[in-house]
Amino acid sequence: MNKKYSDFFNPEMETMTRPQIEKLQLERLQATVAHCMNSPFYKKRFEDNGISPSDIKTLDDLRKIPFTTKQDLRDTYPFGIASAPLDRCVRLHSSSGTTGNPTVILHTQKDLDEWANAVARCLWMVGCRPGDVFQNTSGYGMFTGGLGFQYGAERVGMLTVPAAAGNTKRQLKFFTDFGTTVVHAIPSYATRMFEVMEEEGIDPRRDTRLKTLVIGAEPHSDEQRRRIEQMLGVKAYNSFGMSEMCGPGVAFECREQNGMHIWEDYYIVEIVDPETLEPVPDGELGELVLTTLDREAMPLLRYRTRDLTRVLPGKCPCGREHKRLDRMQGRSDDMIILKGVNIFPIQIEQVLMKFKELGGNYLITLETLESNDEMTVEVELDQLFTDSFGRLQALEKKIARELHDEILVTPKVRLVPRGTLPVSEGKAVRVKDLRKKF
Ligand code: ADP
Ligand code: ZN
Repeated sequence: MNKKYSDFFNPEMETMTRPQIEKLQLERLQATVAHCMNSPFYKKRFEDNGISPSDIKTLDDLRKIPFTTKQDLRDTYPFGIASAPLDRCVRLHSSSGTTGNPTVILHTQKDLDEWANAVARCLWMVGCRPGDVFQNTSGYGMFTGGLGFQYGAERVGMLTVPAAAGNTKRQLKFFTDFGTTVVHAIPSYATRMFEVMEEEGIDPRRDTRLKTLVIGAEPHSDEQRRRIEQMLGVKAYNSFGMSEMCGPGVAFECREQNGMHIWEDYYIVEIVDPETLEPVPDGELGELVLTTLDREAMPLLRYRTRDLTRVLPGKCPCGREHKRLDRMQGRSDDMIILKGVNIFPIQIEQVLMKFKELGGNYLITLETLESNDEMTVEVELDQLFTDSFGRLQALEKKIARELHDEILVTPKVRLVPRGTLPVSEGKAVRVKDLRKKF
């Protein structure tokens, strides 16, 4: 392997070549499938489809196995999909369940250890070391961004500050008092923290030791990342994960900041066309499907994440040969269909973030006006931008035109003062759909 960096958290796994990765994957896949026969759900799935673990002779044989969906997790709620007995499990995480039964993810002690190792590998990759002070602004509790990063950061050997979500002024006090160097935050919250810093007269470059930001848990554009980096004077790395796959630690940007390495010793990646469910070639957008390779309590086979992304072709200059995923486009269910056009909120964000007059917070509202479906994009102005009414109107028109070029419909654009749009404590709510359903 052509190594640009010499310092790995897990050199054995991080410096594997493609043939080595694939050999390990096949061994782990076969073991995983055999272990899944302890799961009442998978045992029946295999019987119903006339397949058995011995049918998995190559990595391509994975395609013989049916997909697992979120609905399967709901239908087997709470413990019906587990492959280990409950008395071997030491923790569960659960999703909110706003749309039906919640889902449950179980972990054995080994699962938790490996999860911490995966998160530590990610953090180490972007330069976190003992001596760093790591502040986590995620909600703790069921949300995996809390405990997931906590144990991973401790495994690196950093001094950890489990600040949890909210209370921005207290977060900033911790930054300055404890000398925080690394922060984990949802991108929308990173922007919010900077706004409060400005209001409080704190200059992140002068008054803090911040150097690294880990941002993830919600879709965000590269433009938004660059903005956060400039505001805070840090490097910001994209972090991808989901509760079903443990949580954070699934895929993470290296210092090249060009795609997130997905740890293929833990997961097999497939990208499929969400309609035909056929595989798409590297470089093409599709739905991410993941198979866990090293889980005891609740392995998942070919889990349809509903997240849309692509595998970036080519080798990463960092030398790691674990595949790279492109920035998430959003979930298939985040897609807005307006006047017959498919639109992802992230496309709108990309356009907005190019305007230096604008702040980071925006809200897309869809409503039915005189039986037409219309889109309004409200976006906060950067506080420092004061201009005449006429100039603001001209700016609104310019933004609307550029949005039209990107999404092919012309939204109404409304510029509002900074701090007027709602900020949620968890993931940002970017779309309000008030359309009448006929
Ligand atoms: P919930 O399902 O309740 O949102 P999770 O914390 O499990 O809870 O959320 C995982 C989802 O969050 C992913 O499936 C993905 O849609 C989104 N997500 C996580 N990390 C990122 C990221 N870096 N970029 C974009 N979306 C992300
Ligand atoms: Zn890399």
